[in-house]
Amino acid sequence: MSRATAADTVPSGSPAALSTPEYIWMNGAVRPWQDANVHVWTEVVLRAASVFEGLRGYWVPEESRHYFVHLDEHVRRLRESARVVRIPGEVTTDELHKALGELITALGYREDVYVRPTLYLEKGRYTSKASAVDTGFFMPVFQSPREPSIDTGVRCQISSWRRSGDQSAPPRVKAAANYYNLRLARLEAEANGFDESVLLNGAGKVAETGGASVFLVRRNTVITPRLSDSILESITRQSAIDLLANDLGMDVEVREVDRTELYLADEVFLTGTLCEITPVVAVDQFGIGDGTTGPVTRRLQQAYYDACRAGANESRGWLTAGPTLG
Ligand code: PMP
Repeated sequence: MSRATAADTVPSGSPAALSTPEYIWMNGAVRPWQDANVHVWTEVVLRAASVFEGLRGYWVPEESRHYFVHLDEHVRRLRESARVVRIPGEVTTDELHKALGELITALGYREDVYVRPTLYLEKGRYTSKASAVDTGFFMPVFQSPREPSIDTGVRCQISSWRRSGDQSAPPRVKAAANYYNLRLARLEAEANGFDESVLLNGAGKVAETGGASVFLVRRNTVITPRLSDSILESITRQSAIDLLANDLGMDVEVREVDRTELYLADEVFLTGTLCEITPVVAVDQFGIGDGTTGPVTRRLQQAYYDACRAGANESRGWLTAGPTLG
């Protein structure tokens, strides 16, 4: 068997552009990327025993620093995910913020970044007894330029795979093992010539994509599935709902969504940390709108970017400043 090369080490699902970073945070220190190793005979390798987060830092050039979006909420979700799958390890916002500051200073990236804090189980098998398990923590930071699909839009296929449910592999938690379900859907979409897949839940209602929440606009109302419809408790989804309702003055309905509502929508868009606000230009064989970014999607994109890039001027409480880079 051949080994992957260093260029392959950036995980898929991370931002598109990508050179391997020089450093990573692992178990209490900034370390050279190639020194961040685990043994093959560990629970994280054998049974994907890990939980993770994906958050963004936006570079504000006037201040020479990044601002992290919803840092507290991401740490809370990491802790909640760990709690459900019983990976012990108390990560606090302060600890994560400090680690992030040290790593970003070492890397010196003066551009937008994407951050992946991950808690994983080394030894422990299926037990959660704190005395019998070893938990590890690592956190890479990647350069993360704007995804081209934010402008061009994506074409989605309704997957023949169903989103796992709360009764099996709960989508509410961001456990690495859940992503096998989403990988199946992504691979199917790719094989069929689509960019992305929309999964239905066990009840046949719209759930989410492999990495984003789904919204549609129909007759001037914005509609998105409920948190109990087999979706991740997405942080960007809530931000989008707040912006749509409060800043854009739209009616927002959070309810079960039928597949055909996507086909008949005036606009469909995806929201997520990585894809931000991404227009959907087709679902299955149905074109959406005129195939370009619709007016509600465009206004939301602007409101979201303004909020994320407000730097020291922000008033929403979304942002946490990173270190000033010299
Ligand atoms: N659903 C899934 C399955 C995801 O992986 C993500 C990305 N974290 C999202 C939705 C969007 O969540 P968030 O807005 O918190 O990034």
